[in-house]
Amino acid sequence: MTHYLTEMDPEYDTERLGYNLAVEHRPAVIAVAERADDVVAAVREARRLGLGVAVLATGHGPSRSADGQLLITTSRMRGITIDPARRRARVEAGVRGGDLVRAAAAYGLAPLSGSSPEVGVVSYHLGGGLGLLGRSLGWAVDHVRAIDVVTADGVLRHVTPATEPDLFWALRGGGKGTLGVVTAIELDLHPISRLYGGGLHFSADRAEEALARWAEWTRSVPEEMGSSVLLIRMPDLPVLPEPLRGRYVVHVRFAYTGATADGERLVAPFRELGPVTDTVAEMPYSAIGTIHAEPTHPVAFHARNRMLRDLDAGAIAALLRHAGPDADAPYLLELRHLGGALARPAVEPSALGRRDGEFVLYVGAAADPADVPALRARYDELFTDIAPWATGGVCVNFLSGPDVGAAELASGYLPDDVARLAAIKLAYDPEHVFRTHHGLA
Ligand SMILES: Cc1cc2nc3c(=O)[nH]c(=O)nc-3n(C[C@H](O)[C@H](O)[C@H](O)COP(=O)(O)OP(=O)(O)OC[C@H]3O[C@@H](n4cnc5c(N)ncnc54)[C@H](O)[C@@H]3O)c2cc1C
Repeated sequence: MTHYLTEMDPEYDTERLGYNLAVEHRPAVIAVAERADDVVAAVREARRLGLGVAVLATGHGPSRSADGQLLITTSRMRGITIDPARRRARVEAGVRGGDLVRAAAAYGLAPLSGSSPEVGVVSYHLGGGLGLLGRSLGWAVDHVRAIDVVTADGVLRHVTPATEPDLFWALRGGGKGTLGVVTAIELDLHPISRLYGGGLHFSADRAEEALARWAEWTRSVPEEMGSSVLLIRMPDLPVLPEPLRGRYVVHVRFAYTGATADGERLVAPFRELGPVTDTVAEMPYSAIGTIHAEPTHPVAFHARNRMLRDLDAGAIAALLRHAGPDADAPYLLELRHLGGALARPAVEPSALGRRDGEFVLYVGAAADPADVPALRARYDELFTDIAPWATGGVCVNFLSGPDVGAAELASGYLPDDVARLAAIKLAYDPEHVFRTHHGLA
């Protein structure tokens, strides 16, 4: 029997909350799913009650609130099956990145993980999946082989290129909360068990040099090298080491699958700049989550992003004007290096066809509701200044929060794909049962 909760139940409040508290769900009913059957029953129950259906896995990428709808929580669906011979994993809807990394590592295999082990594997893939090894192996969604999904008619479908080609195409890149509730995905794993990775922190007086060196260096690094840069004023917390505590720093992160000696050569130009911390070393792939070491405590987080085609001296000056050591930016700014396999078309095409960015520019901050308008204005000022270097696109997976508009979301896709996604949405969900996620039109 599927377990349902309403406001009258004491568990209602903990069940409706996820990591990002910027979007608070007050659903009419919560369906606590433990199996695919529960999801089928919940979608049918929502139809019977005339309610919309929303999904919550971990809450790392919420869109609009599920107020008054039926919210299906998937966090108890934690099954992982590894087939080492086929190098394949079957992953249920509530599995987090770190769980899958650990399960695959037992066989010397790896999924294409993102920066945070806390993020849900299924939704990360549905939105594209920008992993730390993406430059050599592509978007994580390119490695999805099958998807089990409950569509608006309450039917559980096993979706592959052979069974439902349109749905298979659309779910991969365009499937976050819009086309059905995915109960499990099957994906390829990779024979990777180690990395040369970690990060270097630079103090404020090295910020410009570190950023400029990184931008120049990205022009020639091999595809086996993934990297990113974070500009941030660290909180004044006693748990932080003295060189970071309360200070403005630049964090340059690396994930390299080549030989350690080559990795050391590639990282050497940064070590010459005198970092204040250095964690770059040989590590097991299972430690990949320590590279970005993102916070895990729930917060109300507001983030935006833009794809950039280049990072020349003008772009760097603009970024530092807004988020350099003297700017007092109320947000953190991150740049991830794309290119390589991330810029190439997938063997099996998906909705994630727009692949023209060389960098993702991501900005984010925890903010109280009263401060959000001012924060958004600061993001807009930055994006206006950086527009000459922008592609006009966004990274779909990094879009979250209620203020993401249809045009902004559409800019993450190729124009023809936006029309195809809308047509597939209409075919599979004509009554707009899945209405919480940002719509394309
Ligand atoms: C700290 C942090 C680090 C991140 N790092 C990366 C990264 O390195 N690379 C990257 O690509 N992205 C990254 N992201 C973005 C992240 O991948 C997306 O926000 C993703 O959608 C989060 O999924 P979730 O299940 O954890 O979160 P949730 O908020 O639970 O889900 C996000 C949305 O996905 C939909 N959804 C969830 N489960 C299902 C399902 N079973 N079926 C259908 N729809 C579903 C729902 O509409 C939901 O609103 C990061 C986000 C955070 C906060």
